Amino acid sequence: MDRGLPDGLDLVEAPTPCFIIDEDRLARNLAVLSRVKQATDCRILLALKAFAAFSVFPQLRRTLDGCCASSPFEARLAKEEFGGEVHAFAAAYSDRDILELAQFCGHVVFNSQAQLAKYRNQLSRSGVGLALRVNPEHSEVRLPIYDPCAPGSRLGVRRAHLEPSCLEGLEGLHFHTLCELGADALERTLRAFEEKFGAFVAGRKYVNFGGGHHITRPDYDVDLLIRLINDFKARHGVQVYLEPGEAAALDAGYLVATVLDVVEADMGVAIMDASVAAHMPDVLEGPYRPPLAGAGLPGEKDWTFRLAGLSCLAGDVAGEYSFDAPLQPGDKIAFLDQAHYTMVKTNTFNGVRLPSIGLFSKGEGLRIIREFNYNDFKSRLS
Ligand SMILES: *Cc1c(COP(=O)(O)O)cnc(C)c1O
Repeated sequence: MDRGLPDGLDLVEAPTPCFIIDEDRLARNLAVLSRVKQATDCRILLALKAFAAFSVFPQLRRTLDGCCASSPFEARLAKEEFGGEVHAFAAAYSDRDILELAQFCGHVVFNSQAQLAKYRNQLSRSGVGLALRVNPEHSEVRLPIYDPCAPGSRLGVRRAHLEPSCLEGLEGLHFHTLCELGADALERTLRAFEEKFGAFVAGRKYVNFGGGHHITRPDYDVDLLIRLINDFKARHGVQVYLEPGEAAALDAGYLVATVLDVVEADMGVAIMDASVAAHMPDVLEGPYRPPLAGAGLPGEKDWTFRLAGLSCLAGDVAGEYSFDAPLQPGDKIAFLDQAHYTMVKTNTFNGVRLPSIGLFSKGEGLRIIREFNYNDFKSRLS
């Protein structure tokens, strides 16, 4: 998946730290999603929790039908900046959440029958369509932190607990079991879903297959996805929704940083003006080693360095990489595939400056569209 940096992107021009969203690669992802839509007539929503760069919403809106929000704030952003359908799902809602969601959403997905019972009349009176998330109890994801079907998971109603009468008047059923997975994992999930919940699809308008579909990865079997959706629609006569986050922005952005210092530890350690803890927290949460443009595995090239952030956290480390020449202060480096689950998750730990945000396309070059300052740090404290 390491496609490197695009021709024409000159890191010298980038202020650092800086996220750069690659509009050409976004367009390529959208072309794949568009093919799925055309072949199946399904609806595809952008999961804002993964990628919420509203400056590119007009481009995304040409292909995608709307957004899936995880909170009233995301729902408001979807309504004001994206347009189209706004769906919401959260593990639980407060009274205040429901009041706000009613203003912004056309569809609300509940995680429990108790919450559905509590709020169904209020939302129905506001014209909001209702759905229930179910848990097919079929695990495909290996890391428990990302597995909605792990033992003890609070996500979705299990078959043993489902009271069929609560489905009366519901428009949709929702399941979400995947994370960065292929169409084969969806095929197995669908089998589990239909075995447990197939009888309850009749009477619904749609089934939402959730996110975690790695549709735009080069080796994803798009034809199988198309067949699964079309077969499901033929069997049940309902609309199908997908709500990918990562797949929309896969490999469509970079985090550019400057090396500030190189210190000697048990190996050379280059300290960047970015922070892994503050700017790429998924690297520590996963954990995983983010790809770095032009760099090799440790020992593969002549010079191996550990790349670390400027915060005080001992573990603020991206990983170990090798280079043709030794890293030096002033060198610019670019982590690849940093559009999804990055800008939406940054924080100001240590008061570290938030990365600027830029757009790049071959036609228009690099444009910096957002820079952050002291007030962005201060405004979250009091
Ligand atoms: C996280 C999530 C998504 C998006 O998942 P991706 O892995 O980014 O595709 C969609 N729907 C729900 C309910 C989610 O929790």
